[in-house]
Amino acid sequence: MKKGKKEADRLGKSTTAIHSGSLEHTIYGEVSVPIFQSSTFAFSSVEDGAARFSGEKPGYIYSRLDNPTVNALEEAVATLEGACGAVATATGMAAVSSVYLSFLSRGDHVVASKCLYGSSRVILETELIRYGVESTFVDSSRLADIQKAMRPQTRMVFVETPMNPSMNLTDLAGAAAIAKKHGALLAVDNTFASPYLQRPIEFGADIVIHSLTKFINGHADVIGGLVAARDKEHYDRVKKVASLFGNTMDPHQAWLILRGLRTLPLRVQRAQENAAKLAGFLDAHPKIAWVSYPGLSHHPQHELAKRQMDGFGAMLSFGVKDGLQGAITLMNNVRLIGLAVSLGGVESLIEHPASMTHACIEPAKRREAGILDELVRLSVGCEDVEDLRNDLDQALNRIGEGQK
Ligand SMILES: *Cc1c(COP(=O)(O)O)cnc(C)c1O
Repeated sequence: MKKGKKEADRLGKSTTAIHSGSLEHTIYGEVSVPIFQSSTFAFSSVEDGAARFSGEKPGYIYSRLDNPTVNALEEAVATLEGACGAVATATGMAAVSSVYLSFLSRGDHVVASKCLYGSSRVILETELIRYGVESTFVDSSRLADIQKAMRPQTRMVFVETPMNPSMNLTDLAGAAAIAKKHGALLAVDNTFASPYLQRPIEFGADIVIHSLTKFINGHADVIGGLVAARDKEHYDRVKKVASLFGNTMDPHQAWLILRGLRTLPLRVQRAQENAAKLAGFLDAHPKIAWVSYPGLSHHPQHELAKRQMDGFGAMLSFGVKDGLQGAITLMNNVRLIGLAVSLGGVESLIEHPASMTHACIEPAKRREAGILDELVRLSVGCEDVEDLRNDLDQALNRIGEGQK
């Protein structure tokens, strides 16, 4: 853990993505981290076992608690995020729920983005409320709204940036200052940007959450999550809770995700170049009503994006002039681009949040959060951009065809 942090101070992000988490694992001089597919680890004696359990001696015990392959992935992402440590979890939602379970108690209050990943919001609204934790949902792109919602009992501010799927941003430094002033934690779901483009801890966040399923794994073949913490106290707390509740990750899953992570910088660079070109193409297309992409100069938070991100990312959302019907025609007619939820893979995917990822939020609340019925979300992959542009163009040109 500590070794990784020092390296990150010296090395670039691509070098870090390729080398972090691999240095201590050489048995035969292997270059790739091995998969330690063992549920348990033998002790040399009763005394040795007791010393490992008490923490007096380092050493592995049982893979729900710690596993070398999982630890390698945790170290790699923690290093990229500038965190003191990270806990890998079975899914992105296991990361979100580990954060809620670690830090929220009866009577506590949460201020969260209205425009959160659907399940992250619904847990607060329908599950944590059963345990006496209240939440207020705000437009976190407006710092004044976060400030206004803070109460003496507010224990956590939970935001996404860019937000899913509006692509609005939260000012991380501003949100961190408000949280700090009120003695609350700032937790940031950094899934949409990835640590290659944005490191919330640099702006004062306490906790960073990832669905590793998305950009970090990047190949649409594994589910996983992770919680990274700035301070050891918070890392220890999440580690304990995730281990107790059994939210932790399997070694085979960790190995695949670590393999994906090695090419994160290459994939994100290519995907965001494609996204910038497609955003420009859609913005000028006669069938498109609006485009939300932080890299467009008319995005209301374009300047903030330049300040807190190292690039504008590979996600965008847009509305079609023909509204919902036009959006459906477009999504039913793409050929190359997959019609599927999830994001951040090498392949481009298109989806309809109002009826898919965000259908679990009540319709009125969904619209109020800017998740319009007509909104289409596009995760741009690493294909040849001309092919993606042609695919969108032919599908857009089908709109209104039947009505002629
Ligand atoms: C996908 C996603 C999650 C949930 O992650 P899973 O790996 O599907 O459990 C949480 N937050 C964001 C922003 C996501 O995109």
